[in-house]
Amino acid sequence: MAKMVCRNIAIAGGGFFGLYLAEQLALKGCRVTIFEKSQQLMSRASYVNQARVHNGYHYPRSILTALRSRLSFPRFVNEFADCIDDDFAKYYLVAGSLSKVTGEQFRRFCQRIGAECEEAPAAVKNLVNPGLIDAVFRTREYAFDSHKLRDIMIDRLSAAKVRVVTDAVVEKVKKSGEGLEVFTSIGGQPETVYVDHLFNCTYSRINYLLDGSGLALIPLRHEMTEMCLVEVPEEFRKMGMTLMCGPFFSVMPFPSAQLHSFSHVRYTLH
Ligand SMILES: Cc1cc2nc3c(=O)[nH]c(=O)nc-3n(C[C@H](O)[C@H](O)[C@H](O)COP(=O)(O)OP(=O)(O)OC[C@H]3O[C@@H](n4cnc5c(N)ncnc54)[C@H](O)[C@@H]3O)c2cc1C
Repeated sequence: MAKMVCRNIAIAGGGFFGLYLAEQLALKGCRVTIFEKSQQLMSRASYVNQARVHNGYHYPRSILTALRSRLSFPRFVNEFADCIDDDFAKYYLVAGSLSKVTGEQFRRFCQRIGAECEEAPAAVKNLVNPGLIDAVFRTREYAFDSHKLRDIMIDRLSAAKVRVVTDAVVEKVKKSGEGLEVFTSIGGQPETVYVDHLFNCTYSRINYLLDGSGLALIPLRHEMTEMCLVEVPEEFRKMGMTLMCGPFFSVMPFPSAQLHSFSHVRYTLH
């Protein structure tokens, strides 16, 4: 990779990735501006998700992804301690049929990646239908409060002197001399800025900017998703359950709304 001379940087997209990158570049001495399409930072996928701080359990069929999650888990939990909800018990259930792993395979997988996994207490096992569920494990997985995470990042960006512009769409980029000409629409008004580098952190809209700029598109398939938030019965308040590994559901705390997210592999995607 060519060495980047840190000067003037624009970042399209004020989700968690854009914000984190902006701070890192600013700490290296760059002058950084974030352009965010919405009125608020971290209001798209960085808010509308399951709020799971992944610790590997979700990926019994990809040991590499599982190990990466295991390594990142303590780092994220330490760095963003104030947004972490660890005050609930997290159970992973393995289905008896239609599952791509068995209970025993899941247990061995957790052992291999070094993730805590023990048989759940009888009181929890009694909540499930033994005809449908092969195994129930108590694990260690947390949730994050997306609003608190945003507030932490806003403070950090302010300390790093990152400029944040909301209601600002990056429409197009083109070469201009040694640098780049970035065409934005801020509050509906066109504005052009000149920078040395532009980072496209727009996630689901990554191709919008590429297309507008006449650049090659990334062959992606997009799916509309809906995250359902529910109030759970009292006995589930301090509990999260994820059923592996196939067309199943997950219900777990969603701290920023003080509710639980309820997602399903088949129905969350439209
Ligand atoms: C259903 C679902 C559940 C998930 N559950 C989890 C989970 O439990 N745990 C986990 O760690 N991850 C989860 N993820 C993944 C996680 O949500 C993403 O990895 C993360 O939010 C991506 O952050 P981002 O900053 O790239 O994207 P975003 O948060 O979407 O940020 C992109 C930003 O770019 C802005 N933007 C778009 N176009 C432009 C433009 N042209 N100009 C300026 N701004 C623009 C958008 O408004 C948006 O704010 C889930 C994802 C989905 C879809």
